[in-house]
Amino acid sequence: MRRKQGLLIVCDGLGDRPIGRLNGDTPLEHASTPNLDRLASQGMVGNVYPHKPGVRVGTDVGHLLILGYDTETYYYGRGPIEAASAGIDLQPGDIAFRGNFATLDGNGRIIDRRAGRITEGTSELASALNGLSLEGGVTVLARELTSHRLAVVFRGAGLSASVRDTDPGATSEGNPWQDPTPLDSTPEAARTANLVREFSIKASRILSNHRVNLARKEEGSLPANFILLRGPGKMGPLPKLSEGFPIRPACVAGDKTILGITRMAGFDTFTDPRFTGEADTWLEGKIGKALELLHSGYDWVLVHIKAPDLAGHDDKPEAKVEIIERWDKAMGLILNEIDLSQCYIGFTADHATPCEVGDHSGDPVPTCIAGVDVRKDGIDRVGERFFRSGSLQNLSARDIFMIQMDLMGRTEKYGS
Ligand SMILES: [Zn+2]
Repeated sequence: MRRKQGLLIVCDGLGDRPIGRLNGDTPLEHASTPNLDRLASQGMVGNVYPHKPGVRVGTDVGHLLILGYDTETYYYGRGPIEAASAGIDLQPGDIAFRGNFATLDGNGRIIDRRAGRITEGTSELASALNGLSLEGGVTVLARELTSHRLAVVFRGAGLSASVRDTDPGATSEGNPWQDPTPLDSTPEAARTANLVREFSIKASRILSNHRVNLARKEEGSLPANFILLRGPGKMGPLPKLSEGFPIRPACVAGDKTILGITRMAGFDTFTDPRFTGEADTWLEGKIGKALELLHSGYDWVLVHIKAPDLAGHDDKPEAKVEIIERWDKAMGLILNEIDLSQCYIGFTADHATPCEVGDHSGDPVPTCIAGVDVRKDGIDRVGERFFRSGSLQNLSARDIFMIQMDLMGRTEKYGS
């Protein structure tokens, strides 16, 4: 069977609802998008449910679905994804937490959940905790993330993710850290709760005496003398995409969560300090990198753009229109460079983030797959309203994944 390549642009939070400030248009309908319009005219389009009608998904689940995973089986919680984002290679059985560097007073009360929003020295502090041994042969892996965040992993036999967060949450300053009580009656949960206590105390001792914190105290900054943990998840098996489909995939992104998810799925990942994950990201650079990867032989290249989601969360429809128009310009580079007889080009979103909702919604998201031999829907404008008459209707993100794999010649025949 002949094989072709594919390029998929994931515009995070692209989907929206009619907005009065945009004369009743969605941002995608309102934006001037000559290149995307041209792309739509060369393929099939529609509004696609990330999971099921009305189900709101997070960015992590939304991306696993775009990559074709059954998230009822393969979603292990946010902790493991953060750990993968930090570059930790997780093994089945590992318990991964999201962590914060925090400041505690002498009585064990939280002064600041973010240790004065510490940005420097976190790599050294995390290194000081990495490799820490706990009771019963459990080892701690710790790696810094952006600013005050870090990933913490417990590795060893007989662990459970059913333990309460030690982080009491956003309005907790002045309160003590929470005791990590077990959340079920299994011996594994009881044991893991004890290990979290042991880790918290040992980590606090190590951090309090660390050079970075002594220097912070000297200059009048809050010391990062404690680790608050939340969102534990137990890593299970996650087959690499290439185990199910004969493809060599690559991802171009600035957002660490996306880089983590795709790395877990076996993608080679490519980033650049100029891929900021914000509105000022270097879109032409991302598209240029994707073209380079397709030329160098990657079969399926995913490009992630975070900014539409941020505009949605901030209720900034004009900013969403602006980033869509910048994305459209960058798409011009692709349409001039890629031979649509050899490579399918598509776009979708992990979920809608309607500006006036200010959060993810369960709306279906505008989606397009174009290529020379794709059945054409004859729709030459992009937008939720225009895509309603396209052929990609009542489908899920996993269906769209399978359609791409089939077009690219990467699926097995069902039957003989
Ligand atoms: Zn998202």
